[in-house]
Amino acid sequence: MKETNRHLERLRVIEGDITRQNVDAIVNAANTTLLGGGGVDGAIHRAAGPELLAECRTIGGCPTGEAKITRGYRLPAKWVIHTVGPVWHGGDRGEDELLASCYRNSLELAIQHGVKTIAFPAISTGAYGFPLERAARIAVRECLSFLRNHLEFGEIRLVCFGTKALDAYKAALAESAREK
Ligand code: ADP
Repeated sequence: MKETNRHLERLRVIEGDITRQNVDAIVNAANTTLLGGGGVDGAIHRAAGPELLAECRTIGGCPTGEAKITRGYRLPAKWVIHTVGPVWHGGDRGEDELLASCYRNSLELAIQHGVKTIAFPAISTGAYGFPLERAARIAVRECLSFLRNHLEFGEIRLVCFGTKALDAYKAALAESAREK
């Protein structure tokens, strides 16, 4: 195996439900209040139980592009890292950089808490309207760059909800693999 490919093997794109992932931490695509919402946020709160919302209430929100960590309660994952993706406004309001920050800040928090395996949803691509292919390229780029710099880290799983997201993330991963 080529040394340079080791980071590619630790990034997995799968179709599934993030609440079922057996990893150290899952990432929640939250909103700035951290008080729950629809989409993946709602699914995570339902699966974790009311203790999650109780802990979120003590945090006092999270700015866009940043991340906060709580326990996972009834989830298989020990931790939930809550990050707030940007709302898509057409691309000239710093959306790309804010989305990249979500991945970077979530992974930084993961390292600080000894997390070795983590699962991300397709942040901002639901209610927040970020174009799927563009979001997928940013996610893959940030995850690979992190894995290259953290050889001790086990695995990043990009969990796609449905085949449309799966196709976009797989294409982004294949594109990165070709570039390397
Ligand atoms: P945002 O507000 O950041 O766009 P959403 O929750 O609306 O967040 O959507 C983010 C992504 O999460 C979407 O691609 C959506 O299909 C996906 N999603 C929704 N439920 C789940 C789930 N249970 N597991 C994984 N991904 C999910």
